[in-house]
Amino acid sequence: MATALFVSDVHVAGERPATTARFLEFLKSEGARAGSLYILGDLFEYWIGDDDLGALDGDPLTRQIAAALRELSVAGVAVYFMHGNRDFLIGAAFCAASGARLIEDPTVAQVAGIPTLLAHGDTLCTDDHDYQAWRRVARSEDWQREFLAKPLDARRAAVGQMRERSKAVISAKPAEIMDVSLAAVNAACRAHGVRRLIHGHTHRPAHHDFELDGVTCERWVLPDWYGPGGYLLVDEGGARLVNF
Ligand code: MN
Repeated sequence: MATALFVSDVHVAGERPATTARFLEFLKSEGARAGSLYILGDLFEYWIGDDDLGALDGDPLTRQIAAALRELSVAGVAVYFMHGNRDFLIGAAFCAASGARLIEDPTVAQVAGIPTLLAHGDTLCTDDHDYQAWRRVARSEDWQREFLAKPLDARRAAVGQMRERSKAVISAKPAEIMDVSLAAVNAACRAHGVRRLIHGHTHRPAHHDFELDGVTCERWVLPDWYGPGGYLLVDEGGARLVNF
């Protein structure tokens, strides 16, 4: 029975070596036994461009993660990656290095025979208007072309500033604004004709059952790895959250 594993919001970063160690251990143990592994965004704390990976002075951490994912894909585990709001600049070079297949946000995948809507989760936070406005800018071709044309040092500095600013903005925002909007969840499930949705981003791991048009639907929210971390396991027997 092929098992599908889902993770998101690992936020791999140099300043959190314990998270990296836990994630690498997870790939070697649970990951290696799975049929597929879906990484639903924010694998990395930030990503300034694939050229950072290949550069001589590039971050060895990102190469280490890519190599560990590559081992899984070579062993026959289907590895999928979806962009998050922090690593949306991950491109073809990282995918080639890791063997991960880039999937769109959102994607409907057949998981254990059930059409399942997969999303990072930020597009469902529609009450956060400032964030949605920034997202439209950052996902535009113009912004990305301009940003990627800057030297690596300038990009690293710009991202450092963005991270500081975003910390300040997040701490000033009411918590409910940064959660998904239930209207957006309903609309997404309706639009894609699914009863099961899996997403991350909000760092509010949970299993929600809800009624939509007279049908019971499930929404699974993945844990972040700032704490001990965890994942969602889906097989023919159902879905369950596993927290470390
Ligand atoms: Mn996120």
